Amino acid sequence: MTAELLLMGFPGVPDRCGLSWSSIVLCSIDKYKILVDLGAPMARRPLLRELAKRSISLQEINMILLTHLHYDHIMNCDLFPDALYVFSETEWIYANSSEDTAISKWSIQALNSFQKQLLKKDHETIIPGVKALFTPGHTPGSVTYVLDCGSDKMAILGDAIKNRGELQSGLTNNSAVSRNLQKIMPEANVLLPGHDCRLRINELSREVVPMEENEVKFVFDGGMTVNGQNPVCLRVD
Ligand SMILES: [Zn+2]
Repeated sequence: MTAELLLMGFPGVPDRCGLSWSSIVLCSIDKYKILVDLGAPMARRPLLRELAKRSISLQEINMILLTHLHYDHIMNCDLFPDALYVFSETEWIYANSSEDTAISKWSIQALNSFQKQLLKKDHETIIPGVKALFTPGHTPGSVTYVLDCGSDKMAILGDAIKNRGELQSGLTNNSAVSRNLQKIMPEANVLLPGHDCRLRINELSREVVPMEENEVKFVFDGGMTVNGQNPVCLRVD
């Protein structure tokens, strides 16, 4: 299986609103072209651009794996009305009955009319090379997907573990993150949180090691400039 990080999540939370930039992964195996999570509304154009760069049409995406049903992970579902949507039954019940403000009723309505596979069993193999682990905490029905990419086993965590800070604290404290981590670590050596880059855990030092830089640049067209370009750059260290 090949798996590519199409859009990298970022853990910034400005005072006005969360950035809500979440990770989106593209996987290919046999007849399947799969997206894991679909991002927030502002991910729409970058997602379309990344698929176009790879000459992949929207119709070619035939499976969508959702880690959970918060708006910042599912809002572009209308682009893929013919795909099979996979997520947990517990999450579906939660999304249809809870007052959680991070659930967009519009997206849930859209999902209602799409083809769905609701996961009922922990550790289920969805297709060869894709396993679902139930990792509740952030939401009751959160799922981590483990992708078998040959030498690497990548766990796509969604917001079960949102970023490197949560991951680092989950290595020592006793929390839902920590319990999820204990379940995930025997299964995967690469961890992709919902709002960060790919991470590894150093086995000796037990420190979280980023596998790439994670930064965002704010460019103010025709307005503020510093040294001519890239006026504001935020980097996660
Ligand atoms: Zn999120």
